[in-house]
Amino acid sequence: MLIDIHTHKHAEPDQGTLAIPNVIVSKDSVYRTPCSAGIHPWYIDSDFDLQFETLRQYQSKDGVIAVGECGLDKMTSTPWEKQVYAFEKQIELANQINKPLIIHCVRAYSEVFTSLTAKQNKVPVLIHGFAKNWELAKTLLKHGYYFSLGPNILKGAMTEVIQNIPLDRLFLETDDKDTKISEIYAYFCRARKLPLEQLEQQIMLNFKKVFNYTI
Ligand SMILES: [Zn+2]
Repeated sequence: MLIDIHTHKHAEPDQGTLAIPNVIVSKDSVYRTPCSAGIHPWYIDSDFDLQFETLRQYQSKDGVIAVGECGLDKMTSTPWEKQVYAFEKQIELANQINKPLIIHCVRAYSEVFTSLTAKQNKVPVLIHGFAKNWELAKTLLKHGYYFSLGPNILKGAMTEVIQNIPLDRLFLETDDKDTKISEIYAYFCRARKLPLEQLEQQIMLNFKKVFNYTI
């Protein structure tokens, strides 16, 4: 079983794949579970309180297994204070309901860390779509975070991360791309010189552990 931990496609996945669709509150609804649901920093409503209440309702549904994607993005036009407020509210929520956080982070790793620390985060943190270098990955690993690598790895610039990342901290995803999750698994296995079966088993273990989900 291949796990696509983060996709914006809400259609039924291919056979042999467990795909976790991401619900962006006030853009998508909860169509099928398991899914994740959060308030994306690009899509923070002017009435944030209402949007947050909708998220809270989604999170009470069975099969909504994570809060996010949520986070901080230095390349978007959403005002910074609004982003920090929305992110920290979601960190609080995740800790209240004890679900992992799926994080969207663009050029704001130290600020993400600051918010998580300020809110005394205790739940698992998954940095989704990680596409930076091994130096940064090492720092984030020290904080205990998990990583999800996406279609970006197919471009060939992430060999050092692929070769060194501890497999018990790893997930794979397709995000908003049409790439098949099987291509990403296959590429990772080639670059890491790892049998596919071993990777499948490890990511399944990670999934059960982090998302507390039984298949
Ligand atoms: Zn996404």
